[in-house]
Amino acid sequence: MRVYLDNSATTEVYPEAAEAAVRLMRECYGNPSSLHGAGLDAERELKSARKTVASLAFGCRDNEVYFTSCGTEGDNTAIFGAWQSHRREGNEIVTTAVEHPAVLEAMRRLEEEGAKVTYVGVDKECRVDPEEVAAAVTDKTILISVMTVNNETGTVMPIRKIADRKGKAILHTDAVQALGKTDLSGLGADLITVSGHKIHAPKGVGAIYVKKGTKLRPYLYGGGQESGFRSGTENTPGIAAFAAAVRKGYEEKDAQHARMRAARERLLAGILDQIPDVKVNSPADGSPSVLNVSFLGTRGEVILHRLEQENIYVSTGSACSAGKKGGSHVLKAMGLTPEEVTGAIRFSFGAFNTPEEMDYVIDKLAEAVGSFRRLGSFR
Ligand code: PLP
Repeated sequence: MRVYLDNSATTEVYPEAAEAAVRLMRECYGNPSSLHGAGLDAERELKSARKTVASLAFGCRDNEVYFTSCGTEGDNTAIFGAWQSHRREGNEIVTTAVEHPAVLEAMRRLEEEGAKVTYVGVDKECRVDPEEVAAAVTDKTILISVMTVNNETGTVMPIRKIADRKGKAILHTDAVQALGKTDLSGLGADLITVSGHKIHAPKGVGAIYVKKGTKLRPYLYGGGQESGFRSGTENTPGIAAFAAAVRKGYEEKDAQHARMRAARERLLAGILDQIPDVKVNSPADGSPSVLNVSFLGTRGEVILHRLEQENIYVSTGSACSAGKKGGSHVLKAMGLTPEEVTGAIRFSFGAFNTPEEMDYVIDKLAEAVGSFRRLGSFR
């Protein structure tokens, strides 16, 4: 059996999304900016994809959606764009300590340019307090950036409550891990970034929602594509595939959520039943897609490789922070001890997982944790 439980890192592409990409590459490969029929056909596809993403992913108007190359580009566009457009009105930004590096590293860059960034902390379930965010906002705050769902724990952040008290600041939310899992239409954010490869579309495509009326300098300049907001010939195969994945995810949302939730519950129940000395780091009311657990007295990285030998794929944190020294900045911000951080494993679920797979995972996980603890060399 092969069990892929690293869906927060990336996902298997839906057949429908792959077919859409191939169709665009093989049959509709014109440049949407070209004036001839082949260009017009591609432009029609682009328009149709934009309509799908606007209505099903964001619940917004078509002209509020711009396609990007990935979540990182969307986050950078939002942060640098807001800074460049509004820095004369103030130099303060509010974010959290548990954002993805696509946000945190952009913030560090802006600090070099004179931005005063406040990193609001989180509680032991990785949740930011909207009161604390509101307290950090001043009349010089031009941007608030808080993720919708944390990628390491699945914690759902109170974006609506933050929106209610954002003042005149622009509110950006990184919804890369939220698309398809929570409703993005009522968040009240001005800017929302999403990414295709987290929802069973191919890598290399994403989108940003820019609420009508929000002043935001473009990040890429050139031929004026995407109404001048994001130059560069559009990735039409990727965009068509993204729209196909959004549609499929939307149509099958209830069934997928029920299956993910059942898989997550079965895995958690099995872990608690069969493995002593664990700490569950994900909140019970988190996204159905993530379960983060610390196996005390072990090293997550070593368990990961043991599971890999059994064709089970998990992660120790986010794919991006996994390679970094010092352990997860998210788990540390939650107040976990070094032992809890070192022993953490993230299981993340997608459309293709089944509850039945979990029995196999529990078996192999119990074996791996047990044998490492018996060796006693990892404490
Ligand atoms: N934001 C979050 C919360 C993520 O989890 C990720 C990817 O893991 C990103 C941004 C970056 O997205 P991409 O890989 O599409 O650049």
